[in-house]
Amino acid sequence: ALRTRTKIVVEDAVYFNKDKPQEVQRENATLFSLVRNEELDGMLSSINYVETRFNKDYNYDWVFMNDQPFSEQFKTNISSAVSGRAIFYRIPEQYWEIPSWIDKAKMEKSMDFLANEGVLYARKVSYRQMCRFNSGFFYKMPIMDNYQYYWRVEPYIRFECDIPFDPFQMMRTNDYVYGFAMALLEDKKTIRKLWSTSLEFFETEHPEYVSKSNSLKFVTHDSDDNTFGSRFYNLCHYWTNFEIANLDFYRTAKYESYFRYLDKTGDFFYERWGDAPVHTLALSFMEPFDRIHYFANTGYFHNPNVDCPQDPDIYDKLHCTCRPAQSFSPLPWSCSHRFLLADEAEKAEVAKDNQR
Ligand code: GDP
Ligand code: MN
Repeated sequence: ALRTRTKIVVEDAVYFNKDKPQEVQRENATLFSLVRNEELDGMLSSINYVETRFNKDYNYDWVFMNDQPFSEQFKTNISSAVSGRAIFYRIPEQYWEIPSWIDKAKMEKSMDFLANEGVLYARKVSYRQMCRFNSGFFYKMPIMDNYQYYWRVEPYIRFECDIPFDPFQMMRTNDYVYGFAMALLEDKKTIRKLWSTSLEFFETEHPEYVSKSNSLKFVTHDSDDNTFGSRFYNLCHYWTNFEIANLDFYRTAKYESYFRYLDKTGDFFYERWGDAPVHTLALSFMEPFDRIHYFANTGYFHNPNVDCPQDPDIYDKLHCTCRPAQSFSPLPWSCSHRFLLADEAEKAEVAKDNQR
């Protein structure tokens, strides 16, 4: 599909590189980074990896969002580093601010409690705002209306292997909803009530939202009992600092209603619910398993983990620079192998059903 870029209609966004050549075969998609001015160096570094390993051949747009105004220096340096258009978007306050119904005293108390337990970012309010924004708002920013797919990129990440194909195209041609590079275990102390709240929502309030071919196997403890209500969350989640997804997934009434249900508990603030387990549970309940794709062999790194190819032929062919022995994915506490096992089990079941 040869696509000329859609005309941009958003007024608050600032565009750079508008007049670059447009004649490249590409999908209706954008790279996307929520980032702070102070992270300029880290963002430039990430851009360098994404561009040399992939985007130099495609020149996809890159949307940058910030709750603060981007500095002139940030816009200048970043827009000259990307191969496509750079778009800078300031998030309207209403999507970032702490909702009025949050009890500040209660929040302070719970932050102290988590800090005492040694939880990372225990006292950081902006971290909670970020997680809530990434759970329920980023896709509602009008700038995103122009796109079907996004690829999230954080500052200071690396791609240590070539990506010699277009992941966006792969998403579309296979009808994937969501792609990940790493999956791991969440700190239980940050999401004590997320699973029970999700069960209330999906089991009691909206069983009709649960997909028949869901991937609850991936997020629950093994059990002979096949009713999901009796299972427990195993803390596995897709690591959302890398994610490629179809925006329509978030634009549904069911996702919106799930997010609202979670949000009204206030536990994005009282606890410290991350967007990673939220995206993961939404996917696990509501989407068919075969719509979720593991993008392996990218050499993706986000501190402190890397997903590095173990196969020497793949490693050479993709000019990787990571160390296979350091790869996180084969480790027992990674959830990537769990995903593959659950996926196999699911396929075996489907095959058995088909035989009957
Ligand atoms: P971690 O990966 O969980 O340790 O969290 P990060 O500090 O990497 O934050 C996740 C993403 O949100 C990164 O892309 C950050 O640049 C971005 N981010 C975090 N906090 C803020 C914030 O207060 N403002 C903005 N604009 N971006 C933020
Ligand atoms: Mn990060």
